[in-house]
Amino acid sequence: MSRTFNFSAGPAMLPEAVMQKAQAEFLNWHDTGMSVMEMSHRSKEYMSVAHQVEADLREIMQIPDNYKVLLTHGGASLQFSAIPMNLTNEGDTVDYFKTGVWSTKAIKEASRYCNVNIVAGSDEMNPTEIPPQSEWKFSADAKYIHICSNETITGVEFQEDQLEAVFAQGKPVIADMSSNIMCREIDVSKYAMIYAGAQKNIGPAGLAILIVREDLIGQARKMTPTLMNWQTYADNESMFNTPATFAWYLAGLVFQWIKSAGGVAAIAAVNQRKAQKLYDYIDQSGFYSNDINKSQRSWMNVTFNLPTSGLDAVFLEESKAAGLLSLKGHKAFGGMRASIYNAMPEEGVDALIDFMQQFAAKHG
Ligand code: PMP
Repeated sequence: MSRTFNFSAGPAMLPEAVMQKAQAEFLNWHDTGMSVMEMSHRSKEYMSVAHQVEADLREIMQIPDNYKVLLTHGGASLQFSAIPMNLTNEGDTVDYFKTGVWSTKAIKEASRYCNVNIVAGSDEMNPTEIPPQSEWKFSADAKYIHICSNETITGVEFQEDQLEAVFAQGKPVIADMSSNIMCREIDVSKYAMIYAGAQKNIGPAGLAILIVREDLIGQARKMTPTLMNWQTYADNESMFNTPATFAWYLAGLVFQWIKSAGGVAAIAAVNQRKAQKLYDYIDQSGFYSNDINKSQRSWMNVTFNLPTSGLDAVFLEESKAAGLLSLKGHKAFGGMRASIYNAMPEEGVDALIDFMQQFAAKHG
């Protein structure tokens, strides 16, 4: 089977050019006679890779100098615990938006260490919108405000006006950007800390990227495990112990691919087009439906339902045969989900829409 269009939510499709470069360099990186995978992380060669990874990320996200870039283990999930450990003391209050499964997991962990105030959110497991600002209840003494900027399972994404209203609180804002980092340009300086698991828009799994304002580093509770304390990473170029060397290298190739594609702004223009055409098709199809508040629909994770769930298995079987993979929605939400991260070419979305049209004509 040749390469397909893979709509997996993560680990997800990587740019083909990146995979080809990695393949070409796999056995013998830059005439060293070895693979990056086989190199000491302390070697001069590997350090040059690591420094380039950081420099390129700083460039494409325009990360200000007073922010540290930390590359960590444990995915985004470990930060659900590390954030309160690094930023609070027992008895402190923190503000969390509860907008879906991922923010709920972050809340569960934070609740072990401090008092969590839910700014907004329903009891529903998978809300289809972020509640309106009129319902938000911030606490006066919160140490920080946490958001999941894109809920991967439903495809609900914070929009500019809501983000501005969060920043306007004047508190440190922390964002889980696992599923929308680098999908569009953002102003990093408005955030206190940004974190993301790598396996969607960054590279392979096994790595998380943290962008942390320097003044937030060095306040961790005494009990914080060494490898969860951001200071450990900041003081050791993220190499206190052996990092996920190959994943870093591959993330670096992705950053170079973003640069060569014209940067995040150019990628964002394509992302907007991809999402818009897919939602437009769903809305006018008279067959498929998407329940998410229209003004908060994600650019990255497009969920949709068929007229009856009885058709789900047929849809998945026929789409797979057409070379369109991993369209099954998350079990917690049901239906279908097309994750269309940066590496999904526009032709992949066009092929999906073509297929959906044919399927609707056949089964409608
Ligand atoms: N946050 C979000 C928004 C996610 O989509 C995911 C993974 N799907 C996570 C956190 C957890 O990431 P990890 O598996 O890297 O811990």
